Amino acid sequence: MKRVFSNIGQLQTATGSAAVCGKAQNELKTLSDAWILEENGVIAAVGTGAAPTADETVDCRKKLVTPGLVDCHTHLVFGGWREHELAMKLQGKTYLEILAAGGGILSTVRETRKASEDALYEKTRDLFLEMLACGTTAVEVKSGYGLDLETERKQLRVVRRLKEEFGDVASTFLGAHAFPEGMDHEAYVNWLCETAIPTIAEDGLADFCDAFCDEGVFTAEQSLHILNAGKRFGMVPKLHADEIKEIGGTQAAARVGAISCDHLSETGEEGIKALRDGGVIAVMLPATSFYLKKPYGNFRGMIDAGVPVAVATDMNPGSTPNLSLPFAMTAGCLYGLLTPSEMLTAATLNGAAAIGMAKTLGTLEPGKQADLVVWDADNLDQLIYRYGTNRAAAVFKRGVRMTGKENLWNA
Ligand SMILES: [Zn+2]
Repeated sequence: MKRVFSNIGQLQTATGSAAVCGKAQNELKTLSDAWILEENGVIAAVGTGAAPTADETVDCRKKLVTPGLVDCHTHLVFGGWREHELAMKLQGKTYLEILAAGGGILSTVRETRKASEDALYEKTRDLFLEMLACGTTAVEVKSGYGLDLETERKQLRVVRRLKEEFGDVASTFLGAHAFPEGMDHEAYVNWLCETAIPTIAEDGLADFCDAFCDEGVFTAEQSLHILNAGKRFGMVPKLHADEIKEIGGTQAAARVGAISCDHLSETGEEGIKALRDGGVIAVMLPATSFYLKKPYGNFRGMIDAGVPVAVATDMNPGSTPNLSLPFAMTAGCLYGLLTPSEMLTAATLNGAAAIGMAKTLGTLEPGKQADLVVWDADNLDQLIYRYGTNRAAAVFKRGVRMTGKENLWNA
């Protein structure tokens, strides 16, 4: 079965099968009047001018086509929502006050423990379909709302089901998301390393292991301990760091050989050097900064220093209930001062690299999977500029149309 995507007004894509950094992050391949030939879900050829014949033709109506977006940092599996905290936030209540009123992350832990696996799956699936409609075709999903073995495994089984249904879903064990109520911190770290990680590895439930290394959460030393334990059981390390304060997270990420270090809104010069020297991908989460009204981080400095930068939504019920990666891209351009081209690389190839999928995803080149988005936009600037409504006109995964705006597509 051959399918040709013809009449592409502008095709824009990063190139290669590994994360790119520095000036290369800004260098996209741009083709006008282009076509893509797909065979059995894989891109067979890309060209300009007259399109080759195929079994099926998809007319892209002179629109912008990019690779499917890769959301490399989400917390998509959770019970309940936390919209009632909005009023408290608007009254100026601090996170600690919200926590004292029974809100915050531990309320999500309670709701997630209560929810059945099937209910969690239905909810996660619906959320994923919303992301897909906005142009995201591959996603990473973390656990971390159980903080006990039963619930963490339940969350990771939900991720596995999502992967079985849609493919290209990376799973991350984030038992080190918070400390369970009333538990001694050292005892919890030991339990994670000696009981939780080996059990989850035995079930093959996690590709990555992550920890929240920040003030008031896990120290750099505790995070290293946890990530090294994960590594011994075949889980690739990732790290949440420098969201609140620099406490050595970037250095820990570099030391343990983390594939990515995420948040980084408070990272300074030394941290940037540590990431560059450690070959760690920096994942920016600008939608979180937006919702929390917090700093966006020195991602311009990271690109200039040669750190590959990716972008993700960080979708979660507390600090950013946003599923749209295009919204995060616009916020990241405006407040992180990335160019639209750098941002597209961040949301595709570098995002794929941050979850170990850059060999098959993230660019529109022969041999890559035919995951692509036809945007209701003429060019990339217009996509970033016209934020706030969904501009994905049609989203294709392995060449198959998954979702799109019927009114635009069939008009
Ligand atoms: Zn996160």
